[in-house]
Amino acid sequence: MTHSTDFLQRAAALDKTDKLSPFRQKFFAVEDVIYLDGNSLGRLPLASRDLINEFLDFQWGTRLIRAWNEHWIDAPGRIASKIARLVGAQPDEIFVGDSTSVNLYKLAFAVLRLQHKRSKIMSDALNFPSDFYVLQGLIDSWNGRHQLIILPSADGISADIESLNKSIDSETALICLSHVAFKSAYMYDMVIVNQLAEKAGSYVIWDLSHAVGSVPVTLNSSGAHLAVGCTYKYLNGGPGAPAFLYVSKQLQSELQSSIWAWFGHAEPFKFETEFRPRNDIGKFAAGTPPMLSLAAIEPGLDLLLEAGMLELRDKSLSLSGFFMEIFHSLLQPLGFSLASPLREAERGSHIAVRHPEGYRICKALITPSTNEKPVIPDFRRPDNIRLGFAPLYNTHSEVAEAALRMADIVKNKLYLLYDSNEQKVT
Ligand SMILES: *Cc1c(COP(=O)(O)O)cnc(C)c1O
Repeated sequence: MTHSTDFLQRAAALDKTDKLSPFRQKFFAVEDVIYLDGNSLGRLPLASRDLINEFLDFQWGTRLIRAWNEHWIDAPGRIASKIARLVGAQPDEIFVGDSTSVNLYKLAFAVLRLQHKRSKIMSDALNFPSDFYVLQGLIDSWNGRHQLIILPSADGISADIESLNKSIDSETALICLSHVAFKSAYMYDMVIVNQLAEKAGSYVIWDLSHAVGSVPVTLNSSGAHLAVGCTYKYLNGGPGAPAFLYVSKQLQSELQSSIWAWFGHAEPFKFETEFRPRNDIGKFAAGTPPMLSLAAIEPGLDLLLEAGMLELRDKSLSLSGFFMEIFHSLLQPLGFSLASPLREAERGSHIAVRHPEGYRICKALITPSTNEKPVIPDFRRPDNIRLGFAPLYNTHSEVAEAALRMADIVKNKLYLLYDSNEQKVT
């Protein structure tokens, strides 16, 4: 068995040769906590803090309404084009605004309208429950004409492509899947699924929330037509930051937004009585963009673009590969089990491990009984501890320290010091 000091030494050596290490210093207070929850809420880029201060004092405070033309009206398009570069799309194929759930509603509605003769909507058990709720709500408002089929996952970790293949048929209107699953981090091969859908004349809406900024996503070259995604996770856009949606150029003219409002109007400042939609991706806009939270997205995008998605994926695999080594050597013998795919090609940038005392272990990591640095993962029912490895700012030393702390908490039963009452946000 490898000794824990060996892992710490190896970690330090790996960090020394890490080409992305300069990016860590571009985030606020990185040394205060070992933060492994960048897959839920990314860290604060220093540049975002500066930008928001400037936004408040100068743009809003001083320029007032003049700032719309000077700074704000073109910002959504510019930010969308940066998101497009991260997901392998054209600048005019991305709309930024609203939440992921609302964007999913808009796209799912548009597809069901286009595919009005078909009655099947498919998803899988690995998908984020909010996506199910959105689809269930749509079915309800369409008076139950559709049926939602949620394909099971045998191990709760991976998808079964064969059964997906068998279930997609000429009745399938829409397939809604997470590219990277929120719990297990299972990653779909987008090309294969897009081909299956296309063969059946169906459409996939990819939820990229746990994929964007953590794995290379190539929407255009993978044959994807529709996607939604979140900007407050690996994109470091800030709590509740506006999300995005993607519609391929080819499909844009065929789809309609379910919300007709002035920012989706061809000429909003003509104040016409009749709605005339824009004929580009902007048709999916509804009301006024939330400028404060939208502006805060841009510095994080600039950091990711500067680092490059291929380099970020390399670093992510290096971090998670290193964790796997420690997991097999120290954690598995202590009763932890893996709740993520073993093969790295099938995994995003987080890893879930299970332990019967998962919740109390999480608490012990977050609020240590000694004066050690807090380690912040998150917890997903019933017993999953999720460890997010954000390649822009996490280090191998943090990974090693977190894993060793988990081992220590179980070995010395430190979790017994904590109760198992759940907080509102876990
Ligand atoms: C985080 C996340 C969302 C978030 O949805 P919001 O409407 O922005 O709160 C949606 N889908 C997935 C898969 C997610 O991981």
